[in-house]
Amino acid sequence: MQSVTLIPGDGIGLEISKSMQQVVEATGAPIKFEEVVAGQIAYETTGELLPANVLESISRNKIAIKGPITTPIGKGFRSINVQLRKEYDLYTNMRPVQSHEGVETRYDNIDHIIFRENTEDLYAGMEEKISDDEMHSIKVITRQGSERIARKAFEYAEKTGADKVTVVTKANIMKLTDGLFLDVAREVASEFANIELEEVLIDNMCMQLVMYPERYHIILTQNLYGDILSDLCAGLVGGLGLIPGANIGDDIAIFEAVHGSAPDIAGQNKANPTALILSAVMMLEYMDLQKEADMIRDALEEMLKNPATRTADVNGTASTTEFTEALIKNLKK
Ligand code: ATP
Repeated sequence: MQSVTLIPGDGIGLEISKSMQQVVEATGAPIKFEEVVAGQIAYETTGELLPANVLESISRNKIAIKGPITTPIGKGFRSINVQLRKEYDLYTNMRPVQSHEGVETRYDNIDHIIFRENTEDLYAGMEEKISDDEMHSIKVITRQGSERIARKAFEYAEKTGADKVTVVTKANIMKLTDGLFLDVAREVASEFANIELEEVLIDNMCMQLVMYPERYHIILTQNLYGDILSDLCAGLVGGLGLIPGANIGDDIAIFEAVHGSAPDIAGQNKANPTALILSAVMMLEYMDLQKEADMIRDALEEMLKNPATRTADVNGTASTTEFTEALIKNLKK
């Protein structure tokens, strides 16, 4: 049995985490979830958004899965998600975006995977008040940060037999920061003779993805562009309820859905747990539990084909709990 830290989060986090846990346990995977609380709920009881026992649990288990955690806007709170990525130097954010049979959208056969640098850029938290009327935010891009994410994208391409990596920047305007990121991507690309580096500017990439999404597969980019592109790509395949994510460092990984805590539907038994369940599938694969990962993925695809067993955000009629029950019934051991 391997112990995994579970942070349920808040908003719909509580409902989808419960669903995810039930599904993973139903596969019989040798995993024991160790639940710890962070975010608003922890703040109310301990006065801290990220209590020490959460960090202790992640450091010990080295693998965690978390529901969305709301960061109170303004008030000087730093995003817990960003803090966790920095704390454990989880520099690779992988976000796969795929079409699902039965989920109707304008496009079919989309298969993107975004490699997003996860620790630098405008997310470095270096903001400065110049006066009441002028604020600055500093964009940090380093050679080391750029190189390690570029390498991950190219290694993934090599491992999966892909022939192209698309790097997305605004290097024509941010010549130093984005220029460095692009230069480093070119250097890394030169080590992979069979993989082309395609260079696209972020504004053009948004249009290209909407017009010709099938032309892209592996997308390498910085923190902010990656965040925006993943929501754009989510929109191509049926929305945020379907998109999982992994934050991976050298020895610690935290898995989480791309979406937030969706306060508009929290507590209503409406949330789609697919994104977090697919994040669990990525976690199982990371732990070399391929059989359990495939079992969940196959059953999920069956659920999504049928409006009666998918949730309202993807034009279905199932509640979160109905979806979960049907999914568990469909797991083929
Ligand atoms: P954050 O800033 O934390 O990302 P947000 O409110 O901007 O949060 P989300 O919480 O991701 O964004 O929600 C955006 C929209 O997508 C909301 O209308 C929400 O209801 C919907 N949504 C997000 N996740 C899900 C889900 N798992 N199931 C159903 N709808 C979802």
